[in-house]
Amino acid sequence: MALLEDLQARSGSKCELCGATENLKIYEVPPVSTGGIDGSLLGCDTCLGQIEASETMDPNHWRCLNDSMWSEHGAVQVVAWRMLSRLKTEGWPQDLLDMMYLDDKLLNWAKATGEGQDESEKIVHRDVNGVILENGDSVVLIKDLKVKGSSMVAKQGTAVRRISLDRENAEYIEGKVGAQQIVIITKYVKKI
Ligand SMILES: [Zn+2]
Repeated sequence: MALLEDLQARSGSKCELCGATENLKIYEVPPVSTGGIDGSLLGCDTCLGQIEASETMDPNHWRCLNDSMWSEHGAVQVVAWRMLSRLKTEGWPQDLLDMMYLDDKLLNWAKATGEGQDESEKIVHRDVNGVILENGDSVVLIKDLKVKGSSMVAKQGTAVRRISLDRENAEYIEGKVGAQQIVIITKYVKKI
């Protein structure tokens, strides 16, 4: 796959976060909009596992960010910023964050997953019952919904899998009904 080869060339076949040379995989930095090499990094199992599952984080592993936060690649900077934000109560990550400079575009990208914000500032999406919705959840429609800009009606009971959340607005999620990507209002869905 070309992307993998490009990333290997860019990184010298090393984890772009910690420098490990084994078990390297492509990590598309969420939210994946453009993808491609600028939206991705090469990461090792250890780093990627801990990015996905915060509860397994070993703060000492992330001392590697001391170096990798200075990467010239936006995708690496964004992930470094996110991990430092997650760990900032440890003390030293906050010091590194203070030294880090991301331009507005990168900072918006870094913040797009809600990382580094206080819980109270986060936009929280809830279904009709008040259950919190996350990216990737599946929901079911609780009423027939007209799809804007088409004659299609999404029927009550339709399952929508792998939803994505509108980061700007807690009332909207997106998901596929049939082949069509539609915007759905959260109060008309129930998490399944
Ligand atoms: Zn790594």
